[in-house]
Amino acid sequence: MTSNILEIKNIKRHYPVSGGILSLSKATIKAVNDISLEVKSGETLGLVGESGCGKSTLARLLTGLEAPDSGTIFFNGKPFQEWDSSKIGTMIQMVFQDPYSSLNPRQKVGNIISEGMRIHKTGSRKEISMRVEELLVQVGMRPEHAKRYPHEFSGGQRQRIAIARAIAMNPDLIVCDEPVSALDVSVQAQVLNLLKKIQKEFSLSYVFISHDLSVVSHISDRVAVMYLGKLMEIAPTEELYHNPLHPYTQILLEAVPIPDPTIQTADIAIMGDIPSPIAPPSGCPFHTRCPKAMDVCKNNQPVRNEVKEGHTVFCHLY
Ligand code: SF4
Repeated sequence: MTSNILEIKNIKRHYPVSGGILSLSKATIKAVNDISLEVKSGETLGLVGESGCGKSTLARLLTGLEAPDSGTIFFNGKPFQEWDSSKIGTMIQMVFQDPYSSLNPRQKVGNIISEGMRIHKTGSRKEISMRVEELLVQVGMRPEHAKRYPHEFSGGQRQRIAIARAIAMNPDLIVCDEPVSALDVSVQAQVLNLLKKIQKEFSLSYVFISHDLSVVSHISDRVAVMYLGKLMEIAPTEELYHNPLHPYTQILLEAVPIPDPTIQTADIAIMGDIPSPIAPPSGCPFHTRCPKAMDVCKNNQPVRNEVKEGHTVFCHLY
């Protein structure tokens, strides 16, 4: 049986915002609002949703960069609070969206990749420098690139450097937050293939966050769909793409471009704008945009419903 590397139980992260006269009126952004899910060892869990749905906040919670207001995150069966924070920092790494701002422009590539190894004194200077060269080769770069600065590289090459930095300390899990969305389409496939290769070589688990369903389908074993800080549907990738049950997932998939001019796809604009996370709709958060909304949806939140093994949906239709 596959064990879970990460288990998230009922986590919430709300941010207070002040406004109005003298900034006295207080409201709350419910960025992550009672989410439970698990990441199995060795799998890639895709996390999709529109911008503002809480994906990036969830990424920061999963890497320990932020703590949830309530709920618990278990890593290898043990709550985050019981781990040494520096240990969590090495076992869970992150690859960020923007390879231009995520690499320190004043540091040489070798120093960027070796930072964790130097802090944790994993070897002599010579050993660390040899390891950096090895890592560069593993991500498709050349050993001599260690002596150059980030600005000397393209976006795709910088993302390769960010991946080398992420794997330098032999992590168990990498959270990839929109890792290819800042790259040209031609380069996206190369970086996705590199992530797959690295996953096999290092027995890694990934949480892969993106707003792009076609990108997520290429890399994920399972996909979780998020909307306004909540989960809408989780299923194995094949199942989700061929048998989407939640109306939100169905509309998202209809809006994915299909390279066949004879197939008409729906325009995502028919859904209107995503409501503000400061005042999310009551009941099902999707009811203001859902073409199948019923009276019950306005006031009652749908609960988790496993309609078949591994396929879970949060919707009153099921
Ligand atoms: Fe639509 Fe109701 Fe299902 Fe929400 S619960 S997705 S509003 S049918």
